[in-house]
Amino acid sequence: PKTIFSGIQPTGVPHLGNYLGALKQWTSFQNTETESTKLIFCIVDLHAITSPQKASNLRQWKKEMLTTLLAIGLNPDRCIIFEQSRVPAHSELMWILSCISSTGRLSRMTQWKSKLGISEEHHSLEDKSTETLKLGLFSYPVLQAADILVHRATHVPVGEDQAQHLELTRDIVGAFHHNYGKVFPLPATLLSPAKRVMSLSDPTQKMSKSAPDPKSRILLTDSPTSVQGKIKVALTDSLETYGITYDPQKRPGLSNLIEIYAHIQGREDFEHVASEFEGLTKKVFKERVADCINESLESIRSEYTRITETEGDGFLEKVVREGSAKAANSAEETMVKVREALGLL
Ligand code: ATP
Ligand code: MG
Repeated sequence: PKTIFSGIQPTGVPHLGNYLGALKQWTSFQNTETESTKLIFCIVDLHAITSPQKASNLRQWKKEMLTTLLAIGLNPDRCIIFEQSRVPAHSELMWILSCISSTGRLSRMTQWKSKLGISEEHHSLEDKSTETLKLGLFSYPVLQAADILVHRATHVPVGEDQAQHLELTRDIVGAFHHNYGKVFPLPATLLSPAKRVMSLSDPTQKMSKSAPDPKSRILLTDSPTSVQGKIKVALTDSLETYGITYDPQKRPGLSNLIEIYAHIQGREDFEHVASEFEGLTKKVFKERVADCINESLESIRSEYTRITETEGDGFLEKVVREGSAKAANSAEETMVKVREALGLL
């Protein structure tokens, strides 16, 4: 059976990168997939604590994340929407997978290396002090593998930054099958066309919830004025004479805005989009981009406000409790097979 699984960290309100790169696909599966396809979406709170969070913040962010997932149109009657920490099987499977995952392989994960401040070329950690770095930060791709495998997912829609972790997941499946026999399907990576939306203030970095500069991202709940302001100050170049052209190498900031504009409309003909703005000043172009973003966020925004104003915490709690119960059943089916395969049962 086809099972689509994906997760998002409750580290803040999702941004346009999360939406175009991942969440938009999540909602579209509700229309494109047949009833027999399982759709499972997880708020991965155990991943969020790999950098310590204040309890009150984490609680608030989890609530905001759930509200956003509902506001973008995920239907809890069609999908399983749940919180990772409410389904302990995720952590149990992680431990089991840890026992067959090599530390060398994990230390080569780009995301880990970037947390260490190590460049792509380096393969050794020896010259950096790993003394104070936390084990959870190092091993979190194994938890991610467990998230996917515990639901025996066949397809995982993510942004490009997660592609490497998905490769690791498939390697872990190989190792598990080699040691204990076949239990899991090999999960395929589903990349959306907008697989890497860049930061507005530093277009060499991807847009991120946890980046320190709030102007680097457009939140799904930003007001129209806030969107206009952030786009207005988005970093572009001063190659004024070139007009509006698409050139991700030479003009990354401008090209990112062109891509955002195109992706919102489901287009990928970036050069052509740029040519439609030929002759416009950057100021006017940016206003058009902001308008386009605002138009596409309008219904999400109003639905978010409706949920927060008319539905109480009780409603959100009920959604997540019911989702987590369904997720626990899905996970337990797998864990029985896993425990049997290992001889734990
Ligand atoms: P954090 O900075 O806390 O890691 P994040 O913005 O990277 O936050 P995640 O919760 O880690 O968001 O990722 C959720 C999903 O959004 C993943 O599938 C990830 O690949 C995707 N995603 C994140 N940032 C982008 C981006 N800039 N462009 C496209 N997809 C993205
Ligand atoms: Mg991330």
